[in-house]
Amino acid sequence: MGYETRCLIGGELVEGAGASIEVENPASEEIVAKVGSASLEQLDLAVEKATAAKSSWGRMPAVDRAPLLHGIATALREKTDELALLMTTEIGRPLTESADEVEWCAACFDYYAEVARSEIGRVIPPIEASQFSVVVKEPHGVVGCIVPWNFPLLLLIWKLAPALAAGNTVVAKPSELTPLSTLAIADAFAGLPAGTVNLLAGAGEIGAAISGHPGIDCVAFTGSVATGQKVGMAAAARNARVNLEMGGKDPFIVCDDIGVDGLQVAAEGGAWAAYLNAGQVCTSSERFYVMESIFDEYVDAFVQHTRSLVIGDPLEPGTDLGPMVSAAQRGKALGQVEEAVAAGAELLTGGGNAGFEQGHYLEPCVLTGVPAEADLLREETFGPVAPIVPVKDLDEAIALANGLDFGLGANIYTRDLKRAIRCVKEVRAGSVWINDPLTDNDAGPFGGFKNSGIGRELGTEGLDAFREAKHAHIDTEIEVKEWWYPYG
Ligand code: NAD
Repeated sequence: MGYETRCLIGGELVEGAGASIEVENPASEEIVAKVGSASLEQLDLAVEKATAAKSSWGRMPAVDRAPLLHGIATALREKTDELALLMTTEIGRPLTESADEVEWCAACFDYYAEVARSEIGRVIPPIEASQFSVVVKEPHGVVGCIVPWNFPLLLLIWKLAPALAAGNTVVAKPSELTPLSTLAIADAFAGLPAGTVNLLAGAGEIGAAISGHPGIDCVAFTGSVATGQKVGMAAAARNARVNLEMGGKDPFIVCDDIGVDGLQVAAEGGAWAAYLNAGQVCTSSERFYVMESIFDEYVDAFVQHTRSLVIGDPLEPGTDLGPMVSAAQRGKALGQVEEAVAAGAELLTGGGNAGFEQGHYLEPCVLTGVPAEADLLREETFGPVAPIVPVKDLDEAIALANGLDFGLGANIYTRDLKRAIRCVKEVRAGSVWINDPLTDNDAGPFGGFKNSGIGRELGTEGLDAFREAKHAHIDTEIEVKEWWYPYG
């Protein structure tokens, strides 16, 4: 398979002139491609091109932008097989999950194509009869997008689609682990004015240069808390707008009112929420709080289900979990498991390499007895690991859920409406899923409380992230106002 390794700058495909990036297939550990990173001069050129495209794209009526955005959705759907294969090659995730991601990307473009047609502000009640007051929402200008590897296209499109729909132009950088799928979508933007979308391969150096670039008006970032803080500080130093989507340590609460059938569902749902994409989802469930009276039964069902999962070649139909993205990521997750076991935890299943000599495979792990102070219950793991902790009641579960500085998502299983609503109100997280783990909906906001983020993606909130509000006070009379001088 040939790979697109060129960057998109000003409508042209060009080889990156910076350092070479080696792209590894995590299932085989083979280097499948070498991609030239953009140089800092190429970043300057991309910003220049995006700035030049601001007037043609930014002034285009939303009704004219809409078919072009739908066109991008169509182009992505037409390339589903190719893009899915590329993402699986780069991150090792089962092909079916990669194909789903392409559809979610296309649907996001379709959503924002229409949502952005419906309003660019509002009319507000004036403070005087002769006034007409309106709020007008305008694009920021050039938006810099910096994204991680775990959903390489989706997390880019959650920024790109609303930013474009709002009339911004874009300079975007994928993770150095996953440049191929991003560079492969360059042709989907052929119908837009040249320079509206620029795609640059590169690692942290280019990310840092985007965050600090004086020509970039807004930086939209998804990644770790540590990097997000750097991006936020670089943007704040020049008062650029910023949107940060960062890490999490999501809780998964199981109440004792769910019954025998519910318990099995909550075990299977919990395993999916913990192991999807080999646990490398920002909203992976990473700590399970289960009420004491059903604890043993729940753990048994979880372990049985975990042992039934198929770990293997991500290209094979029927594979549930592929390898993790890299040796480093596998080492980090396994390191937390080993540290917890050394401190007294019991590893009930998992932890091996599923018999694979090649590839970063990690059999999904279930643990009990993890000490409360272990990293496994406090720091992001980003791997297929489920520590399960007994709690005596919902008070304790909510206190533990809220006890960390993260607040991205939270899951609760209960049939009790009172408990469900209490969790919605009291759990401090940007997404709360009751009996419905990890669903997304383009129409609603996604993002984090506390260290997990600043700002929101998706929904109308996600469109507003890429718009500046202007309040226009219009008076139809030219007259001296009574509150002017003189006061006497
Ligand atoms: P990361 O922070 O290492 O890298 C993210 C991006 O930032 C990459 O493109 C990287 O090249 C770039 N980067 C690195 N150094 C930079 C710098 N100094 N300035 C600017 N950019 C820089 O994260 P990762 O390992 O790629 O992704 C995993 C992390 O992403 C996890 O913490 C996960 O929770 C988080 N994540 C969050 C969300 C969310 O929506 N909240 C979604 C997915 C992933």
